[in-house]
Amino acid sequence: MTLGVRMVMLGRQGAGKGTQCVRLSRHYVVPHISTGDMLRAAVREGTELGLKAAEIMSDGGLVPDDLMIGIVEERLGGNGTTARGYVLDGFPRTVGQAEALAEITSARPLDVVVDLDVAKAVVLERLAGRRVCDDCAANYSVVAPPKYGWVCDNCGGDVVQREDDTPAAIEKRLAAYESETAPLIAWYEQRGLLEVVDGLGTAAEVTDRLLSAIDARRGS
Ligand SMILES: [Zn+2]
Repeated sequence: MTLGVRMVMLGRQGAGKGTQCVRLSRHYVVPHISTGDMLRAAVREGTELGLKAAEIMSDGGLVPDDLMIGIVEERLGGNGTTARGYVLDGFPRTVGQAEALAEITSARPLDVVVDLDVAKAVVLERLAGRRVCDDCAANYSVVAPPKYGWVCDNCGGDVVQREDDTPAAIEKRLAAYESETAPLIAWYEQRGLLEVVDGLGTAAEVTDRLLSAIDARRGS
């Protein structure tokens, strides 16, 4: 079996992208590049980028294209860590970002873009119950909490509701997703790169579906 894949994961917030991206990155032995996690780390560390992003994200807004493109270009270009590929999560969010990504990756284009499909009503319910480790960003929920209280199983950090998981911010993000990101799906479909994968079911069931769809594209 060939290792590696170059892929983008699309889908509404709450579709289970984070969980599935971690599983895929282990399977293919490539980094999971989550622009959301990168931004939140920058916010925690109080970098210049973090301060800019914090203001936008606390309001439920999307970080501007030029800022995001710069971050991703730097990460994908960095010191050989993406030689076997990557699972890109949270980027692109707009057609403009997709065009920039196509340019950045022109030497080694994407294998596949996956749309992890879960209905809006389902993700709204999931997001309201989502909890996350403040330190390592591990995902939990009110139906799948840590073993002991709200203390992270991985690192002992505090497991909390993210500040941007308030109902108002969730609605705003989903609306932004519909209006800005949904056209991406059409854009990638036109280029023959899109695989729509049903995101309902257990994590293992969804992973199996993803692997079948992705492997068919990798030509392995
Ligand atoms: Zn943790």
